[in-house]
Amino acid sequence: MPGSLRLPWSITLISFLLLHLSCLAVFFVPFSWWAVGLMAILYLGRMFAVTAGYHRYFSHRAFRLSRGVQFLLAFAAQTSGQKGVLWWGAHHRDHHRYSDTEQDLHSPVTRGFWWSHVGWVLSRDYDAYDPGKIQDFARYPELRFLDRHHWICPWLLGTGVFSLGLVTGLGPWTALVWGFVLSTVLLFHGTFFINSLTHLWGTRRFDTPDQSRNNFLLALVTLGEGWHNNHHHFQAACRQGIRWWELDFTFYGLKLLSWVGLVRDLRPFPAGTSS
Ligand SMILES: [Zn+2]
Ligand SMILES: [Zn+2]
Repeated sequence: MPGSLRLPWSITLISFLLLHLSCLAVFFVPFSWWAVGLMAILYLGRMFAVTAGYHRYFSHRAFRLSRGVQFLLAFAAQTSGQKGVLWWGAHHRDHHRYSDTEQDLHSPVTRGFWWSHVGWVLSRDYDAYDPGKIQDFARYPELRFLDRHHWICPWLLGTGVFSLGLVTGLGPWTALVWGFVLSTVLLFHGTFFINSLTHLWGTRRFDTPDQSRNNFLLALVTLGEGWHNNHHHFQAACRQGIRWWELDFTFYGLKLLSWVGLVRDLRPFPAGTSS
């Protein structure tokens, strides 16, 4: 079936469970603050790739990139293990189209917290996606390749982190467990909170037709995505925090990248929006 994922669902589920179980290895490898630092860098760097890449760029086209940077951002986001770039974008566009209705694939309002958090990702129901919903990016063969073989990216990162541990003296297993396993699991849940908690917990500035909410704590964990009610109201904007205190580190990162020319045409809030 065109556009469907090549991995059978059981591998997705087994990989997910094994990765969570592997977190217990943290009690069996030597502790190192360098390893904690590696975990933090790989969490924050990949969270940026997911929020700026998967979400604001590939789902909402909130800015423009060269074809080379577009590929690198898709690759970096795919190291998160959250399936392929086209799969992610196509399903996210559906989330906005049907937010909190029966057709919303991960609404905690209609389908409960656990379904919205991990159930829908692990079920077979949404393994496939309609390429027509993301044809603006599906026309690039390199993105189709990445999407089809999305498992390559986390495997390459895991191998790289293991090798880094070998050559630096940090220890391959310490580097792998802290730098890859723990940071990837935290990254899963940080991202998944946007699908689950930001439609349940927080305040609503705008009377959107869905139950999206703004939440300072979730915005910190997700580099700005916790301003989800703002986002549902201004879906096309590259920014999600409106007021100065609504921290949005993804936007600050994008702004920095625009100054060096890697990112272009950041789409602002509509004129008249006070910040
Ligand atoms: Zn969105
Ligand atoms: Zn939402």
